[in-house]
Amino acid sequence: MTVRAASWSTQQLAEFVAAVSSVADADLAARAGVERVAEALDADAVALMYGERLAYAIGWPAGATPVDAIRAAVAADLDDEHVVPVPGLGYVPITRAEVGEDGDAYLVVAREGEPPDAEEKGLLRAMARTLGLAMHNHQVVSALRERQRLLEGLSEIQRAIALREPLHQVLNTIVGLAQEILGDDQAALMLRDPADPDSLIVAASTGVPQELEDRVQRRRIDEGIGGRAVLEDRLIVAERYAESSAAMSLFVKAGLASAMAAPVHIEGDVVGCLLVSSYRHGLQYTPADQNLLITIAQQASLALTDARIVSDMVHQALHDPLTGMPNRALFGDRLAHALQRTERTTSEVAVLFVDLDRFKPVNDSLGHAVGDEVLCVVAERISGCLRESDTAARLGGDEFAVLLEEIDTQAEATTLAQRIIDTVAAPIVIDGRHVFVGASIGIATGQRGAEDLLRKADLAMYRAKADGRGRSVLFEPRMQGQALERLELEIELRGAIERAEMELFYQPIVVLDSGALHGVEALLRWHHPERGLVGPADFIPLAEETGLIIEIGWWVLETACRQLAAWHGAGAQRDLTMNVNLSGRQLEDPGLHSTVADALSHAAVDEGSLILEITETVLMHDTDATIERLRALRALGVRLAVDDFGTGYSSLRYLNRFPIDVLKMASPFVEPLDAGSERRSLAQTIVSLGSNLGLPVIAEGIERPEQHAALVALGCELGQGYHFGRPVPAAEIEPQILGKRPANGGGSHTRS
Ligand code: C2E
Ligand code: MG
Ligand code: MG
Repeated sequence: MTVRAASWSTQQLAEFVAAVSSVADADLAARAGVERVAEALDADAVALMYGERLAYAIGWPAGATPVDAIRAAVAADLDDEHVVPVPGLGYVPITRAEVGEDGDAYLVVAREGEPPDAEEKGLLRAMARTLGLAMHNHQVVSALRERQRLLEGLSEIQRAIALREPLHQVLNTIVGLAQEILGDDQAALMLRDPADPDSLIVAASTGVPQELEDRVQRRRIDEGIGGRAVLEDRLIVAERYAESSAAMSLFVKAGLASAMAAPVHIEGDVVGCLLVSSYRHGLQYTPADQNLLITIAQQASLALTDARIVSDMVHQALHDPLTGMPNRALFGDRLAHALQRTERTTSEVAVLFVDLDRFKPVNDSLGHAVGDEVLCVVAERISGCLRESDTAARLGGDEFAVLLEEIDTQAEATTLAQRIIDTVAAPIVIDGRHVFVGASIGIATGQRGAEDLLRKADLAMYRAKADGRGRSVLFEPRMQGQALERLELEIELRGAIERAEMELFYQPIVVLDSGALHGVEALLRWHHPERGLVGPADFIPLAEETGLIIEIGWWVLETACRQLAAWHGAGAQRDLTMNVNLSGRQLEDPGLHSTVADALSHAAVDEGSLILEITETVLMHDTDATIERLRALRALGVRLAVDDFGTGYSSLRYLNRFPIDVLKMASPFVEPLDAGSERRSLAQTIVSLGSNLGLPVIAEGIERPEQHAALVALGCELGQGYHFGRPVPAAEIEPQILGKRPANGGGSHTRS
């Protein structure tokens, strides 16, 4: 070996060591090793074989490595010359070198032309050994990591048991750990129902597709891998699920590829099983994997033994720990049974999907302990409305469901829904504090399809929310289409700001007796790529529901403040005001204060020129937190206006509770002003109310000169409406703002 060759290969070897040990795992090391070897030996193809298994290869098209020929070449006598097929080259001679020390792993190098010389063979041997070591190290490390995670997971479970966490929580942890450690798609813990030992109930599960979940919630003990594990009290492994005699057709259809179940015991008796399964083909459960599942199942046994009485346990697994109501699983079970019973009759089953209104702000502002109490009170109130045969359940969060069996008319369901809405709406007193929540209810009735009914009721509930909450709505087939449309709109709305599809229009607010411009109201428009210009009524409710209003509201505030600053900079009157609408959901957002403060400081506008409009209906559902937030906003120096004043039913109640600066009289009061005088009294009342409280009143929706004149006669100070100008883009209103064009409908009371 020449000195040059020696230093050349030493250099290469050093690089090789770095390349195969710096990667994250054994697979990447195999890949880096094979690539480097091919490069160093100028090979046409290289394969790394672990026993019969190909670990990695290059030089052949993916999936077309001639594994059999390589195997044969590896197995043959060392002294014989061997060839493998390489695309484009025909049969090419190979050289092989042992990887590691176990004697079953080889690097196989195919190179046409000159066979490798002694130095090259030496280099290959050294690289192969190094690769073997590196792979071994990687495997040890990842096994240690897995072990570590398992130990952590097991101690997590121990801790949960020791701390007496609710059983369902412990079981969820166990199921999650099994799924994570074994790398499976689904995991479930199933228990034998003490009331019906021939069936298994899913007590905890993860990864099961939603559409299957309800259908496999309860299964017969003589079907499925889990049932077999229970009946035979041993580990059952099915690596080809579809071929197993215990396979359930439902899962075969869904494409389940493999499953494994281990029995779970209480004091020696089998009470259920822990099951993992996967949709990926070719997954193998090694003996180590099997032991892992058994170990985790033993943990489940410990947890259950600790919970002692099986019936208690099943009760816990099927009930909501907070309210004691049936949970979603049990509700699904009851619903399925109810539907079975109606099969032979003419009556129907009704599902009510109940979602609380304004629960989130209560929970956020008063704390979770109060939130929990509210949920318990609501649960009691709902249950109090039911007959013996009905079932109420808590589905999670602030969602409840009610099952009405054997109803003959839908009216029975709507009557009950109204009763629930009424009882939930009554104030809840907690620690001397009045808390207000409400309920929106969707109703679906039918004779079959448990899961379908619940989904329809859910859709109807959405409609109830969109129609203004605190009401019930019966499912109608067209809602399915609407739900899709809504989803589509939501997707489009998500990117609307980034795509610069939002624009603010501005409508003048004028001093009624002089016609001078007082300020503008910013009104949002969406330039939808297909629908054209969309008004706020068509997307603000959706933005509120999805929470997108927070981002949109932020954009509106920033844009309106910058626009005002630009107008001030261009010479607009100093006292020009900018009115910006806030939605209820924004008011519930703890980040609102800083959003407003930031918008003001980014644009460097005077706080006093910003007026935030909040609709009356939002104020009606006041909470202490709302008042706190309004005070904080006002402390910034901005003013607050009640929008659509007069449309709510308890306007007077909150007026002295809220920090308010301006009243905006809703357009229905302005509408009749050019009619007979008796219809003016409502507007008159609002105007005098404003003057008694020292609050300026802005009349909305002034369309005709007669209305304008009547308002002036009533002494109303400010006004807004098509009579003075429609909402228009900034550029269109700019001449008027910069004093280059007079406001319409000025002192002469005529329309221009
Ligand atoms: P609003 O705040 O009460 O705004 C007044 C609405 O009445 C505007 O409808 C305006 O175009 C319309 N209007 C003004 N003058 C007349 C008139 O003389 N006759 C008639 N028939 N209508 C008139 P728009 O722009 O469709 O806005 C509807 C509602 O959407 C607003 O009611 C406000 O509550 C909400 N909104 C608008 N922009 C925003 C926004 O940026 N954020 C939030 N959260 N809500 C907004
Ligand atoms: Mg407004
Ligand atoms: Mg209004």
